Amino acid sequence: MEKKKGELKSIFLPFLSTSHIIPLVDMARLFALHDVDVTIITTAHNATVFQKSIDLDASRGRPIRTHVVNFPAAQVGLPVGIEAFNVDTPREMTPRIYMGLSLLQQVFEKLFHDLQPDFIVTDMFHPWSVDAAAKLGIPRIMFHGASYLARSAAHSVEQYAPHLEAKFDTDKFVLPGLPDNLEMTRLQLPDWLRSPNQYTELMRTIKQSEKKSYGSLFNSFYDLESAYYEHYKSIMGTKSWGIGPVSLWANQDAQDKAARGYAKEEEEKEGWLKWLNSKAESSVLYVSFGSMNKFPYSQLVEIARALEDSGHDFIWVVRKNDGGEGDNFLEEFEKRMKESNKGYLIWGWAPQLLILENPAIGGLVTHCGWNTVVESVNAGLPMATWPLFAEHFFNEKLVVDVLKIGVPVGAKEWRNWNEFGSEVVKREEIGNAIASLMSEEEEDGGMRKRAKELSVAAKSAIKVGGSSHNNMKELIRELKEIKLSKEAQETAPNP
Ligand code: UDP
Repeated sequence: MEKKKGELKSIFLPFLSTSHIIPLVDMARLFALHDVDVTIITTAHNATVFQKSIDLDASRGRPIRTHVVNFPAAQVGLPVGIEAFNVDTPREMTPRIYMGLSLLQQVFEKLFHDLQPDFIVTDMFHPWSVDAAAKLGIPRIMFHGASYLARSAAHSVEQYAPHLEAKFDTDKFVLPGLPDNLEMTRLQLPDWLRSPNQYTELMRTIKQSEKKSYGSLFNSFYDLESAYYEHYKSIMGTKSWGIGPVSLWANQDAQDKAARGYAKEEEEKEGWLKWLNSKAESSVLYVSFGSMNKFPYSQLVEIARALEDSGHDFIWVVRKNDGGEGDNFLEEFEKRMKESNKGYLIWGWAPQLLILENPAIGGLVTHCGWNTVVESVNAGLPMATWPLFAEHFFNEKLVVDVLKIGVPVGAKEWRNWNEFGSEVVKREEIGNAIASLMSEEEEDGGMRKRAKELSVAAKSAIKVGGSSHNNMKELIRELKEIKLSKEAQETAPNP
């Protein structure tokens, strides 16, 4: 399709993992909502995560589509369909997925060349794309899957190495140079920040590519972490735009919310929705650990017992561990909870946006995945925080210490996303956090009130005149200006 002068054409390139795909696709859909022509490039299996949403947008007349490329499974010796870093990806296969991804780089670069976009938005894990964009003379904008606080905290550790001063792994130290006095222990830091490894190198490359990019996009909004937004921009010396909450903005109606991810619509009416609708306002806990986590049997038992003993109703999004006693235990637990009507188990994937906005939900037990934090803030819900991997322990600091809308279960040790780790959080600790989260006294002045205020701020951010709305408008204006001046140069007569 021929574009008019000044109209923007873009390419969005997500990473190969559900939790990075979901927010970046929401962002792509927001650009299409603002009349930017959008092509999302991904592989066939990864497209299944979001194709329904794109079809819905296209049926609304928005200029958006998916361009599917073949993952080179045979070339790297992988079975067909293993092309993402997800909860069920066998650990030994991950190096081959990286190999496949590096083979795809050429394919992506050729598409950038052939589709002639005016700018590209690519995930942080495609650092090479900044040079690809430079070759084409177009801006590259980098998508960050994390919070401004998490990126600022990681920078603080890289710059000042405060963890090296601590005597023991469990000693607390302050993260220097940040707007607040945030304390961590060495055990809570990601391994690549504790001591250099391959990932440290990758993160360094990513940071360099970010500095060369036109700017970065975050699923955040100004009032959520304004001090860290300013701090981050000043330490990086780059432009950055918070355009969140993207889930709220891009998924305006129930159809959009239900289409997100792997949810099965038909389960909705007879299942969890009916169950939730039978419950009193703010009485139900939502317990979920994101899209990438699996717990060992010992931990599943502690969670189940804590939930049962808590006396609160709950929805628990849970994954089986491929057979064995854990699965039997969970099935029996589910049966018991059905009989008592106290709990509802969702296996595998939950329609999280729809659940969080249900008035019966009163709080979350969460792993502090950044998207979930933003979605709970948007829903005005306080959290019991249980960080596990990635930058979750930094996000916990924002929720508990800065925003004061959460209570920690007391997780002590960071682990890799595809490992069980050695820590088992005990039922008593989980129970204490749930009790504070759901306590009646909280209603008046505490976490719940602040969470509700933030929810109002989240909703204002995406309205006309709100910070995220302004950021989006400003970014699109700048990108149009760049395109127009490029066009003017191309058509100017040679002297
Ligand atoms: N999500 C969902 N249903 C699930 C699990 C996850 O809808 O059962 C969505 C959730 O709403 C969020 C994203 O997937 O948008 C998970 O991202 P987050 O950063 O919270 O955690 P991660 O999956 O990266 O650990």
